[in-house]
Amino acid sequence: MGRVRETLEVDILFVGGGPASLSGALHLRNLIDSHNQSPAGPTRQLGAVSIAVIEKGREIGAHSLSGAILDPIALRELMPTVDIESIPTVTPVVKEHLWFLTSNRRIHLPWVPAPVNNRGNFILSLSRFVKWLGEQAEARGIDLFPGFAGTELLFEGDRLVGVRTGARGLDKQGQPKASYEPGVDILAKAIVFGEGVRGSLTKQVVSRLQLDAGRNPALYAMGVKEVWEVPDDPWSCGVIIHTLGFPLKSENYGGGFLYHMGRMISLGLVVGLDYRDPFLDPHREFQRFKNHPQIAAFLKRGKVIHYGAKALPEGGYFSIPKSYFSGGLLIGDGAELLNAQRLKGIHLAMKSGMVAAETLFQGLLKNDFSESALSLYEKLLMESWAGKELHRERNFRQGFQHGLWRGLMHGGFQMISGGRGIKARLSNRPGHERMRKIEEIPPGTRASRETSQPKERTALDKATSVYYSGIRHDEDQPAHLLIADLDICHTRCAREYGNPCQRFCPAQVYEMVGGEGGEGRRLQLNPSNCVHCKTCDIMDPYQIITWVPPEGGSGPSFMNL
Ligand code: SF4
Repeated sequence: MGRVRETLEVDILFVGGGPASLSGALHLRNLIDSHNQSPAGPTRQLGAVSIAVIEKGREIGAHSLSGAILDPIALRELMPTVDIESIPTVTPVVKEHLWFLTSNRRIHLPWVPAPVNNRGNFILSLSRFVKWLGEQAEARGIDLFPGFAGTELLFEGDRLVGVRTGARGLDKQGQPKASYEPGVDILAKAIVFGEGVRGSLTKQVVSRLQLDAGRNPALYAMGVKEVWEVPDDPWSCGVIIHTLGFPLKSENYGGGFLYHMGRMISLGLVVGLDYRDPFLDPHREFQRFKNHPQIAAFLKRGKVIHYGAKALPEGGYFSIPKSYFSGGLLIGDGAELLNAQRLKGIHLAMKSGMVAAETLFQGLLKNDFSESALSLYEKLLMESWAGKELHRERNFRQGFQHGLWRGLMHGGFQMISGGRGIKARLSNRPGHERMRKIEEIPPGTRASRETSQPKERTALDKATSVYYSGIRHDEDQPAHLLIADLDICHTRCAREYGNPCQRFCPAQVYEMVGGEGGEGRRLQLNPSNCVHCKTCDIMDPYQIITWVPPEGGSGPSFMNL
């Protein structure tokens, strides 16, 4: 294949340039610098410790997407003197509403329960915030490598020693083109995985080391989001609205959000990836949400400017995998650290990165990154406010496995029982196992909009949505969606579930084409549309889809999302 593979050695490697990794890298740099400058005379100078972050997006922040409301607790710990409102797009929350929507009305709930209220929090664009964090990290001498996707784990025995990045310049058949460059082997004393939800290397390491043994199966949701540009409205700036009800049926977990930032509105719909109807299409439901009169009123003089989608981990406390092993740690969404009750994970991601940094700092002092040395991470995390917060909502999401009303009742009981609810530990099945086969759905009750195109002014079809995600994939590269058995797609899945990939993918990557009268249809993939939400890897009922990173730098370019 021509060029020789290069090896790069660093002390600490963070995989994934999101809020968890960047906070971890910055905190580690702070700890090392204060240690080296300590007037008391440290026992051992650490010298120049090299810290690197690799990120698959073409720039830092390009693949970061969230609602997003920030609880600033971790940011204040990381940067006590920072003026939070000077960070791009950051807007203080000034008013909060919780609505229950019927198909054309709203019921304004009189108060927002204490665990979910957002007093003192901030609206922000996660992609912009992460870009800003990246600038702070770079200014502190942390090496950022955007455009590098980690694709393979490098082990020596049981010890993780490095990560191989993906090759560039391969054609569709995997053959080298003129631009071919092999991936780089990055070797490190410790590797921290902050790849975000369902990270491909995180998935490999969890499976290889059975880090999820004895834990609840992970549970996910998927958020579909747009940003609208609207005429400046200082009176609404800082208003946030969360909704329950329409357009989702009460058997589905999820809800909508609308955050007003003055000249921009962030809005989206989150749908639990344990829904039962294979004909449900989260993107289509989002179009219905936008057309609700109470939501459409905010958008009437605006225009959509950005689109994206992302899965989010919702399993909570009991689904957190063992997050340490010889040579490595898991942080952020990849370690299932999200508070589903509060609809928040950025502060937990940041805190987990910082706790990882404290663990690694001890590792550097003792030159020990063994499993037993790194077990300090889990101890510190669970003793911190982050662990306590997750413990307080430990059974929240599982309470919704039997629908919205029972879930809300359980949530109330959980609040008064300190997070316990009806049982010390509620379990759950993986979301994809709950999908019903077509024959199990009573006639007339399935979501019947699977083929209809949205017609409302605010609505977009999937192809148009993708245009607003700033997507860029070289078409002539190996497919990054690996389907283990296409026959299942063409036969069993078509018959049993009607190929739900066509609907749960929010970017029209999966299409069934050809065939007469529905018979003999074949799956056609459009991988260059992929917005990297990971939903297909999670929700496929046969678990035969594996998402792997495309060539580094490919994918969406989220802005203000
Ligand atoms: Fe999301 Fe998979 Fe569709 Fe890509 S192909 S947008 S990861 S569902």
